[in-house]
Amino acid sequence: MVKVIIIGGGFGGINAAQALKKAPIEILLLDRTNHHVFQPLLYQVATSALSVGNICSPIREILKDQINTTVMMVNVEKIETAQRRVVTYDGESFPYDYLIVAPGARHSYFGHEKWEAYAPGLKTVTDAVRIRERVLLAFEKAERCEDYAQALLHMQFVIMGPGYFRDFIDSLLTQTLFSHLF
Ligand SMILES: Cc1cc2nc3c(=O)[nH]c(=O)nc-3n(C[C@H](O)[C@H](O)[C@H](O)COP(=O)(O)OP(=O)(O)OC[C@H]3O[C@@H](n4cnc5c(N)ncnc54)[C@H](O)[C@@H]3O)c2cc1C
Repeated sequence: MVKVIIIGGGFGGINAAQALKKAPIEILLLDRTNHHVFQPLLYQVATSALSVGNICSPIREILKDQINTTVMMVNVEKIETAQRRVVTYDGESFPYDYLIVAPGARHSYFGHEKWEAYAPGLKTVTDAVRIRERVLLAFEKAERCEDYAQALLHMQFVIMGPGYFRDFIDSLLTQTLFSHLF
């Protein structure tokens, strides 16, 4: 039977698998995590409005009714096109007849990688949890300040990104601030 490998269980990979649900083929979906992340709600996790479990679903659960599909958690290192196989960091290899590559994207610092330590991106659950931790720790520090002006220094956040992204995080941060602190 024809073997199709899909790399990535995001919107792209899951949609590709679902579109091939009735095809007489064997699909192997590979992802380095075992869950799909609904990225448009990462802001809410980063600002404590939602928890991680609210925006993640097991990939196997999403595709459980799809009998032509197997899901495997592996971290893909390279694609050997001449041999038509996908190789993982663990040294495993998986042959394919057709390959769909949907591993998503990461943010770019345009050659200034040192900025990342101060300004993490927001693409994964790990990124969102890291930002949430920083925001909450800043509130904790503000709580202990003797005067309001000093507290305000801990509650200044710089948000870089396109308009909608920036406004949305801004409004969520404001909600967090008012609902939890005042
Ligand atoms: C904060 C945020 C808000 C957004 N809001 C909106 C919105 O409102 N509307 C909208 O239309 N779009 C929005 N987007 C964009 C949208 O979410 C993305 O375009 C979409 O999720 C991309 O899907 P994808 O399948 O290409 O990649 P991803 O969803 O990133 O999935 C890639 C998958 O590949 C896996 N993977 C990566 N590398 C490997 C590897 N080496 N081995 C194995 N697996 C691997 C990852 O674990 C991941 O599961 C938003 C994005 C973000 C980050």
